[in-house]
Amino acid sequence: SGRWAKAMAILEELKDKCGTPTGKLRQVADAMAVEMHAGLASEGGSKLKMIISYVDNLPTGDERGSFYALDLGGTNFRVLRVLLGGKEKRVAKQEFEEVSIPPDLMIGTSEALFDFIADALKKFVDTEGEDYHLSPGRQRELGFTFSFPVKQTSIASGTLVKWTKGFSIEDAVNLNCLLTIWFFGLELFFSMLVGEDIVGELTKSLERVGLDMRVAALVNDTIGTLAGGRYDNPDVIAAVILGTGTNAAYVERAHAIPKWHGLLPKSGEMVINMEWGNFRSSHLPLTEYDLAMDVDSLNPGEQIYEKIISGMTPHMSAMHHDTSSDLKVVGSKLKDILEISNTSLKTRKVIVELCEIISIRGARLAAAGILGVLKKLGRDTVKEGEKQSSVIALDGGLYEHYTKFSNALESTLKELLGEASDSIVLTHSNDGSGVGAALLAASHSQYL
Ligand code: ADP
Ligand code: MG
Repeated sequence: SGRWAKAMAILEELKDKCGTPTGKLRQVADAMAVEMHAGLASEGGSKLKMIISYVDNLPTGDERGSFYALDLGGTNFRVLRVLLGGKEKRVAKQEFEEVSIPPDLMIGTSEALFDFIADALKKFVDTEGEDYHLSPGRQRELGFTFSFPVKQTSIASGTLVKWTKGFSIEDAVNLNCLLTIWFFGLELFFSMLVGEDIVGELTKSLERVGLDMRVAALVNDTIGTLAGGRYDNPDVIAAVILGTGTNAAYVERAHAIPKWHGLLPKSGEMVINMEWGNFRSSHLPLTEYDLAMDVDSLNPGEQIYEKIISGMTPHMSAMHHDTSSDLKVVGSKLKDILEISNTSLKTRKVIVELCEIISIRGARLAAAGILGVLKKLGRDTVKEGEKQSSVIALDGGLYEHYTKFSNALESTLKELLGEASDSIVLTHSNDGSGVGAALLAASHSQYL
């Protein structure tokens, strides 16, 4: 029919506009490397913030002792402790507890919320077994993961820059009442915290509840993932998160950061939190649908790279991976979510095609971003007689669960790297926001 022909024409046009041929990906990678240089040269020099993390020591594997972590940045928070036993025993033990934030606290003051967190931490410390006990007089130390853009002022201080995750109130009203309160609260919470010293607030609360604990490192989940990856493998040089959002962090030579005016760290290295989700380039294949979604978002014009790579995709993933002959998963998703029933097989196939177009575009662009980082570090080519290996640690639900996405990411990186691809390895680094943060507390301990 005419309508079907029109639908096919739209599909073809979308496929064309979302196309990511190798040449285009190389342009994206080059643009990423250029923006990295610009963001390192001066504050505000690029859409890439290239935040100096003050992490100048990554874990080596020699760390010993017990360390705590607090992971805040989602729908709940986690407290955990690890017992590190050096090269032989590694992470000998770990324990954690997940706590959800009561909705009424989300609409209260940031003080009340931090008091609640400090109290939960104190209760958790009270359950500490003997193995974890520190030598007398030694203070407990904590790595604090706060997965929102923070302007760091030292390894253990920083202020929240802005709210980036794309929850909107409209999204929330479609959900149940409790969630609505929660989303409102989350926004209120973060608007209260913008400009505040996050560690200062937490430290005051720790004092109020009488818990003697020092915040040794304030990090985000990307940096935690880098730390966890490095702990497992000394060749890890960068980390990429692919979840509801996307971000990357990598190890830069301190003298290659013109905007850094402090003393050069002893290690000669500095971890940079790229905040790459905000990358934007005329080479990105954007369609009218991307523009429409952006305009409707909480943060129009921002996080463009993130908006075309990640998202809340479990339904899309389920449809994309539907292997049944009648595409029954697609059928039931269309019925349950969009209230479109009795779809034909032909229609369902179009939906799978759409999932393919959008997810593969995202995966290929993420691979181009990784190539950009490798280029910036001069690790995208094989050098005569040199056998260096570069490992990228990845984490996040999208990378972990969306198989077609992660497969495309990996094969695209191979395609882009050619003969250099043998020296580049992608690896899964789990729980950077937990264990990774505890490891960073260890590598930035006051007792080193
Ligand atoms: P974040 O920390 O950024 O919120 P997570 O790493 O916790 O994200 O992962 C959550 C995201 O992972 C979801 O928004 C979705 O994009 C993706 N995801 C989770 N489960 C699945 C799944 N089964 N299939 C595909 N993607 C998934
Ligand atoms: Mg996460």
